[in-house]
Amino acid sequence: MGGDFPVVVQSMTNTDTADVIATADQVEALARAGSELVRLTVDRPAAAKAVPHIRDELDKRGVDVPLIGDFHYIGHKLLDVHPACAEALAKYRINPGNVGFKEKRNSQFSSMIETALKYDRPVRIGVNWGSLDQDLLARLMDENAALSEPKDIPEVTRAALVASALENAARAEELGMGADKIVLSCKVSDVQNLIAVYADLAASCHYALHLGLTEAGMGSKGIVASTAAMAVLLQNGIGDTIRVSLTPEPGGDRTREVIVAQEILQTMGIRSFTPLVTSCPGCGRTTSTVFQELAEKIQSHVRDRMPAWRDAYEGVETMNVAVMGCIVNGPGESKHANIGISLPGIGEEPAAPVFIDGEKTVTLRGPNIAEEFHKIVDDYVDSHYQRRSGKAGPTTSSAAAQ
Ligand code: SF4
Repeated sequence: MGGDFPVVVQSMTNTDTADVIATADQVEALARAGSELVRLTVDRPAAAKAVPHIRDELDKRGVDVPLIGDFHYIGHKLLDVHPACAEALAKYRINPGNVGFKEKRNSQFSSMIETALKYDRPVRIGVNWGSLDQDLLARLMDENAALSEPKDIPEVTRAALVASALENAARAEELGMGADKIVLSCKVSDVQNLIAVYADLAASCHYALHLGLTEAGMGSKGIVASTAAMAVLLQNGIGDTIRVSLTPEPGGDRTREVIVAQEILQTMGIRSFTPLVTSCPGCGRTTSTVFQELAEKIQSHVRDRMPAWRDAYEGVETMNVAVMGCIVNGPGESKHANIGISLPGIGEEPAAPVFIDGEKTVTLRGPNIAEEFHKIVDDYVDSHYQRRSGKAGPTTSSAAAQ
């Protein structure tokens, strides 16, 4: 992670870590959705005891995603008393704002770093403005007040976030931790402040940086705010791991945060994870829900097939599929995709031309356009992407139906 390595997608569970099966189930779902690191809270002895069992359970299921322990307040004790937990975790997240107070802070922070050194684990020093080190903030406020032209309070708070991360990273290095084992984060919940904080942080150090807008919110607000903030930073080469902190809808799917993180990276051209389906928004020229249903079916088909495709074919994640609602932009957009279909709009002939690599190849008609198009997509994958050595192609949807 960091340097020239690809930007890594991570996520966090919201199960009770003490519940081994529920947590392993969620970690597995997040990992299968594409999360490359999964963080879980380790908040009490029962959670620390559960961590090695969660690791074992995941290993049994063939899920090798690294687990990160998120520690607050008593992390030093939990890591000390539960060595199996310390060993099962691949990384420790330390929040310097609540690792301890006054004279205990240094010894408790040191204890966690020493455990990380003992087990050769990296750490993330994760500062959050909801739990910023109040002594450090007070010190910077006093220094600011003594200036002839004091800065405004948000600026001093941003400086305190960055200082907290950097001072604690320096302390970790003094204790013997290599700079390449330290990841920093300074999370805030406001887009402009996040951009300003990370721009300062990136300009001030060479540590790997974890990006995320904390408490981004629910639904479209959380997605838009996270994307707005992270896109600006990623575009400037800032960020080595990312997490999209969405508040799930009641009963909602936790893996959504993984898919959004992947889509941010893929739509920006930074990494490819799964074939993209480009679809027009539809308008008065689209005759019915047929167009939306087809776009949805194709998106689902691609996502469902992707685990098998990824396993069997190299580069399939870069494929583009276009599903367009009518003749206005349909043929043109379809020609730019690897495979495109242009559906009939109002008043158009009831036919759907299909384009492969820019050339019109066939025109679909009748009630089974979706199924026939799925088969065309499957055949395209099989004929255009190289099989990984020793891998047979997955059964195509058409073959499976026979
Ligand atoms: S491609 Fe056709 S249906 Fe889709 S938005 Fe454009 S004009 Fe409307």
